[in-house]
Amino acid sequence: MDYLLKALARGGRVRVYISKTTDIVNEAIKTHDLYPSAASVLGKTLTIGLMMGAMLKGDEALTIKIDGNGPIGNVIVDSNAKGFVKGYVDNPHVHFSKNNTLDDVTTMGYNGYIDVIKDLKMKDLYSSTIPIQSGDLAKDFTYYFAGSEQTPTITSLGIIINEDNTTKICGGIIIQLMPNALEEDIDFLEFKTSVLSKFSGLLSEYEDLEVILKLIFGDDYQILEKQDVFYRCDCSKEKFARGIATLGKAEIKDIIETDGQAEVICHYCKKQYLFSKSDLEKIESEARK
Ligand code: ZN
Repeated sequence: MDYLLKALARGGRVRVYISKTTDIVNEAIKTHDLYPSAASVLGKTLTIGLMMGAMLKGDEALTIKIDGNGPIGNVIVDSNAKGFVKGYVDNPHVHFSKNNTLDDVTTMGYNGYIDVIKDLKMKDLYSSTIPIQSGDLAKDFTYYFAGSEQTPTITSLGIIINEDNTTKICGGIIIQLMPNALEEDIDFLEFKTSVLSKFSGLLSEYEDLEVILKLIFGDDYQILEKQDVFYRCDCSKEKFARGIATLGKAEIKDIIETDGQAEVICHYCKKQYLFSKSDLEKIESEARK
């Protein structure tokens, strides 16, 4: 069972998000038939997306879009404050390894951008873009938090894929300095960097995320919330109907005349929706010119 902990540490001067996402990544592998290094890139992005979703509240949601100009193409992840995450990649059948480890950098590429689009339920979406620095997702998101959100952060992500192409373990941790953080907190975290950099090792050794918190912070932490997290798609025929409506009357008429029906497949969960001629006529009659 996947879950996420929100915690404060070091007298409340440090904020922590830690998550285990093994089942979520297995669900993504099954849904998209991901090859191992594609699973690594999407799995890590789902994990970071989930933890960033945990920073939101209520009905707020976010989308991460990564385009590193690598063979995997675009990596898209949607998440929200409720612990739901979903995602897909353009090319799931991509696999590169180097020295027996999954090669995220070659898979994803490092010549492009990471976009984070937040729906904070206000009039406009909030979006920020950073250039990819290294193709190492943990490092690139550390840079994102420093640059776009002005929050000094340590990000670590870990994944191990089994021989049979299932996930043995996946998870991550985000540690952020609060505005009242002291010099000694920075020194402390720098001291812990080497421990944190081997996050997949920590995850495979300790089932319980709280044990990992204890290992890092001793007794100086306080769990604020435990949240169950899931791979979940909220698509529906109504939502896709609204999408078709945005094509406009002329385009929909054209589909009715050429194909007589429309089949739509959800990118995130692969569910198929069939729109019959009468479905399309109804959408067309309500669509704008
Ligand atoms: Zn779906």
